[in-house]
Amino acid sequence: MVSNVLEDCVDNLKNQVLKQEILDSIDFFTTAESEFEDKINGNNLYQIEQNKIISESIDSTVLKSIYSDRMVNKNNKGRVYYDSIFVSAPSGKCPFCSVRLVGALDHYLPKSKYPLLSVTPINLVPSCNDCNKDKLVDTPNSREEETLHPYFDDIENFDWLKAKIITLKPIKFEYYISPPDDWTDLLKARLKHHFSAYLLNELYSIHAIEEFENIKLQITKLFQTGGVNLLKEHILDCYKSRYSVNKNSWQTAFYHCLYNDSDFCDGNFI
Ligand SMILES: [Zn+2]
Repeated sequence: MVSNVLEDCVDNLKNQVLKQEILDSIDFFTTAESEFEDKINGNNLYQIEQNKIISESIDSTVLKSIYSDRMVNKNNKGRVYYDSIFVSAPSGKCPFCSVRLVGALDHYLPKSKYPLLSVTPINLVPSCNDCNKDKLVDTPNSREEETLHPYFDDIENFDWLKAKIITLKPIKFEYYISPPDDWTDLLKARLKHHFSAYLLNELYSIHAIEEFENIKLQITKLFQTGGVNLLKEHILDCYKSRYSVNKNSWQTAFYHCLYNDSDFCDGNFI
């Protein structure tokens, strides 16, 4: 709850007048938090008014500094909330790209445009430095431009990430989304936007080339020993093993695409 965060953030604020004024304004923060929750559940985040402040003395600069000076700063009581959100990402990986390590907290709606949401916990998501939208000031202008929010959008149980080989020599991959037909058009559009906004094809295809180089000697030997069948059996095991961990990791899509590429399985990568 933003009220608890706010109380602890301003706990040792020296300016007693400002401190009291902020505490007297808690309703503004809780209303903004409720509005965020309502709008994100209805995919209407773009309707939230930008650059909203509380008063002349609690302006955008003060609101943003509650985050940067009192929540990020290790010497303040509010830091405990920062730390608990930071470590909440499974395996320490950024939930936006699922590859790089968490390096900061991202304001899902950037504090530069939504200062009233600068310390709202549901607006704070652990993120890698590259996916940190606060730097990019990425703001949805429509329902379709809402990137996936890890606290509100759970699509892990569906298969939606695919890859294909573009050229075998030199090997090049393309990653793309292929969501289930029964998804709504809105969810498909949001995933598409998320995928391109975070440059996930660019990120995953680089990793895929590296993975291929790493296994090339091994799979060449397998093909030369046991032909197509042994190679396919091995690739299928690799795919199933990764699928059991994460249906939509770049690794899962990588092995799936190798298995389904007849040119590759015929040994033409050698
Ligand atoms: Zn990331």
